[in-house]
Amino acid sequence: MEVIKISPRGYCYGVVDALTIARKAAKDQTLPRPIHIIGQIIHNRHAIDELTTMGVVTLDGPNREEILAQVKRGTVIFTAHGVSPEVKQRAQEQGLTCIDATCPDVTKTHDLVKDLVEDGYYILYVGKKGHPEPEGVMGEIPGHVSLIETEEDVNALQLTPEQEEKIAVSTQTTLSQWDTRRVIQYIKEHYPQASVHVDICAATQTRQEAVAEQAKGADLTIVVGDPRSNNTNRLVQVSEELAGVPAVRIEDLSQLDQTLLIGKKRVAVTAGASTPSQLTREVIRFLEQYPDGTTASTKNNEEAPITNGIHITFSGSQP
Ligand code: SF4
Repeated sequence: MEVIKISPRGYCYGVVDALTIARKAAKDQTLPRPIHIIGQIIHNRHAIDELTTMGVVTLDGPNREEILAQVKRGTVIFTAHGVSPEVKQRAQEQGLTCIDATCPDVTKTHDLVKDLVEDGYYILYVGKKGHPEPEGVMGEIPGHVSLIETEEDVNALQLTPEQEEKIAVSTQTTLSQWDTRRVIQYIKEHYPQASVHVDICAATQTRQEAVAEQAKGADLTIVVGDPRSNNTNRLVQVSEELAGVPAVRIEDLSQLDQTLLIGKKRVAVTAGASTPSQLTREVIRFLEQYPDGTTASTKNNEEAPITNGIHITFSGSQP
């Protein structure tokens, strides 16, 4: 099987930093125990499991304030997605030791929207409902912001004349740049006076552009990543919509449905910014040893050992 290893892919610097901070905290015996992470440090089950074995407990829930209410003592770590000032203040009021693993690119957006509101702007923040990053950014400027996910949200806006006069647009860091452009275009049609700031981070942009370019000509794109990872899901979308290549998201090799490989000669592989490299390497190694899908048949299934120790059932000839 020919494998197109899309590059860049996988971990971004914000995720690496957040994991380093959490691992360091786990080893630091001077920090009050227990140590809780408020939400998923990054959206990846494998990374969370690793921290759990180090004694760092992940608490998840619909919003950061509710999660924080469960913690009575010890240390809390805020995730790469950032939190609102209110959450930080509550943690201090609860007497908790706080460690902030917010990605600097997210912090940049927090600072930007605060400055814009100080300058008298009303913010239309383009982001995903229910995702922790918009929750944190919007918490910086309550009463001065509306969350926009689709064109329908623009239609539903009921702004005062004062708000309409000075509008600024800001965005979540991990959106599809093409979807975002479309929504912003729609905003501009309704509010031509809007000042636009696209805050999609460089890591997200380069990973999306790599898929749009490099997946072209592949029969299938496999995106390794967690279902809750927004940037992972956007890579699936980019492959299908921009490169014209069907795509599937898997968390790891164990989720790969081999019937998808039947009839395939070239498979592109990429990974979300929160996917541990080891998981992607396992998928690539597996595919490189897999027979060209055009010669493999679904008959005569037999089990063959793979060098990484995982036993996988192959269809047809051995790799
Ligand atoms: S995807 Fe972008 S914003 Fe999110 S952690 Fe990585 S670098 Fe930071």
